[in-house]
Amino acid sequence: MLTQIKGLHHVTSMAASAQENSDFFTKTLGLRRVKKTVNFDDPEVYHLYYGDQIGTPGSVMTYFPFPHIAKGRPGAGEVGETSFAIPEGTLDYWQERLASRGVAGLSEHQLWGEKRLRFKGPDGDAFSLVEVKDDPRRGWAGTEVDAGNALKGFHGATLRLTDPGATRELLSFMGYQEVDRKGEWSRFAISGGNGADVVDLEVVPSADFARPGAGSVHHIAFAVDDRAAQLEVRKALIDTGYQVTPVIDRDYFWAIYFRTPGGVLFEIATNEPGFDRDEDTAHLGEALKLPTRYEPYRDEISRRLEPIRD
Ligand code: ZN
Repeated sequence: MLTQIKGLHHVTSMAASAQENSDFFTKTLGLRRVKKTVNFDDPEVYHLYYGDQIGTPGSVMTYFPFPHIAKGRPGAGEVGETSFAIPEGTLDYWQERLASRGVAGLSEHQLWGEKRLRFKGPDGDAFSLVEVKDDPRRGWAGTEVDAGNALKGFHGATLRLTDPGATRELLSFMGYQEVDRKGEWSRFAISGGNGADVVDLEVVPSADFARPGAGSVHHIAFAVDDRAAQLEVRKALIDTGYQVTPVIDRDYFWAIYFRTPGGVLFEIATNEPGFDRDEDTAHLGEALKLPTRYEPYRDEISRRLEPIRD
């Protein structure tokens, strides 16, 4: 069993409109945009990152906004719902806030012994806010949401699978333990993690596979401290039979990717070097940052990107 994984690092999804996406995460949810860059594999598309003050791993929701992309169709083999932790006693605040802003899909649930408010993002993205007791993480107290109500980071995510067997084994191998079960559905959690500690398996035996599009999660990333830990995880996964990419430099972290048996794309990302490596903490996410290889094309790239008004 691996001991290097520390919980979630980030979740990356697709959106249709950069402006709508930025407004929703910074204004409605009150997260901080900690990086405005481009998709390193397709520089005509933004890569927007939202999180706490410095984009602490475990707090970072990221998006590729593809203008005019069709909406995704939910199904098996994807992340079903991404959940953020909120302070105990703030569910009513969020219910009122999201309702007053016309957020779709609001519904309250009691699940796994937790109070949960489900809602949809601008493209139908499935999210929830979960009251978590004694979560020491500090959310971003920006101009929109005060520190007492702020999202603290991820609580976890749900994987929607037709057959959970191999994914259960994989999560156990990665250091997760099953902590609760309801029929076929399971909750896994990692101890000694960064707070984004929970992965739930939702079993949908007869569901069609998801069709990716706006509002779909592209991949889910798990955190390791550094590159040495990442190489250990990579070797262990390969020894177990997984096909894992080489280590890829994403400027703010190092990444490896592998497809899991249930169809979900997993990434292992390093906590180093972080989002403040090329910007002052006070101004994170304001300027368009480009990887070195695209700097010679900055003018052309900027012209092709839809401007975002903050
Ligand atoms: Zn990623």
